[in-house]
Amino acid sequence: MDRKHTLRKMRQDSLDRKVTVLTRYSLSQRLNCSWPGCKERDLQCLTLDHITGNGAAHRREIGRSSTALYRWIVNNNFPRGFRTLCGSHQLKAEIQRRIMARRNGDDDCPI
Ligand SMILES: [Zn+2]
Repeated sequence: MDRKHTLRKMRQDSLDRKVTVLTRYSLSQRLNCSWPGCKERDLQCLTLDHITGNGAAHRREIGRSSTALYRWIVNNNFPRGFRTLCGSHQLKAEIQRRIMARRNGDDDCPI
């Protein structure tokens, strides 16, 4: 196998893994944003959300890239604690988590 072919295969495997993971964590296991009422299905707009908001710490443990995260998910047999969200709802979820943390007095983020 030549280098170009190997790289193309690695990219395709990575894309397939992303689709598998995001589909698994979508509502009804159909690739889409899990936010109620959102119809976003564009793979380029979909992300994986750590439901408890510990995504930054988790990524420091396993590697910062989304590829590392998707590989970790598959290798750990799709653990609970994740959901597929579009970029807008990922941001909205993070804002809501920070507002709740501030209300509880355990966050010093100025939003
Ligand atoms: Zn959405």
